[in-house]
Amino acid sequence: MADTKHTTKTYTLPSGDKMPAIGLGTWQSPKNQTSIAVKAAIDAGYRYIDTAFAYGNESEVGEGVRASGVPREQIWITTKLDNPWHKRVAEGIDASLKNLGMDYVDLYLMHWPSSTRPDDLKKHYDDWNFIDTWRELQKLLGTGKVRNIGVSNFGITNLEKLLNDPSCKVKPSVNQIELHPNNPSPKLVAYCKEKGIHLTGYSCLGSTNSPLYKDPTLLEIAEKKGKTPQQCLLQWGIQNGWDVIPKSVTKERIEGNFALDGWALTDDELTKLSNLKDRFKVCGDAWLPVKVFFGDDE
Ligand code: NDP
Repeated sequence: MADTKHTTKTYTLPSGDKMPAIGLGTWQSPKNQTSIAVKAAIDAGYRYIDTAFAYGNESEVGEGVRASGVPREQIWITTKLDNPWHKRVAEGIDASLKNLGMDYVDLYLMHWPSSTRPDDLKKHYDDWNFIDTWRELQKLLGTGKVRNIGVSNFGITNLEKLLNDPSCKVKPSVNQIELHPNNPSPKLVAYCKEKGIHLTGYSCLGSTNSPLYKDPTLLEIAEKKGKTPQQCLLQWGIQNGWDVIPKSVTKERIEGNFALDGWALTDDELTKLSNLKDRFKVCGDAWLPVKVFFGDDE
């Protein structure tokens, strides 16, 4: 029987750091509920929180971590450089660290491959792109402020551009992308695996008002296992080899989403979930000044 201690499972990044298989997401977590949710998660056993400058709740994430009483170094913190900060990477990490009340983050991601002009969010810089931003992110590795660097929302086209550029001396350790059974992205998953880039799956439950909860195949598997559809979705991600970051501000859900030890989906159940027919994507690129998805993130 395969190892079913999923909540203590970790993925080893090229730095040697061990990234937990499950963390708490915080996008759309209201400011006044975030620190309570973060503390509830850590109390339940989570040791990984995912946040971003753009979520406006890094301070509350830091508060929740401190309120938990668990030492900072036992918790994995991922945060992200916001699009209008691409020319100000050194300032961007300092702003996030100040918000978090921490002196380093475990993983710092370029949130989107879009170098958006701060003076007009509908425009992209004409003298800067994500390769320039990555060059600056690499410089942070010597500062002690970030332990690992990575990207988010990169499809194959943009990863190829980045990896083939001579200025790319350090590969992204992680690509954080939308991954759930209605957006399984097998080609991108295989590409990242081949390049040794670990994946984090976002919107792993299908996000707010998830259409997945009505999927008959998922509901049938959940009923047969005596588990919730959400728990089955999280196992699908972890057992496929990426980490998952379900967001909730509801204590019972935070706890339930972490009850993943001692059981597993069978190969047949994993395959069934990977082969659902429906498709939807929570995060597109229509709101950005540049296209970032070219059908190559599928
Ligand atoms: P999720 O797939 O985690 O779904 C969150 C929604 O599911 C919330 O409405 C939550 O409600 C609800 N929920 C959580 N657990 C349960 C449960 N057990 N039963 C029923 N409903 C439940 O969506 P997100 O889009 O938030 O993605 C997760 C995280 O990924 C984000 O929070 C963020 O950290 C990251 N992310 C990163 C992106 C990027 O560009 N890099 C883009 C999008 C997300 P409630 O809170 O009310 O309990």
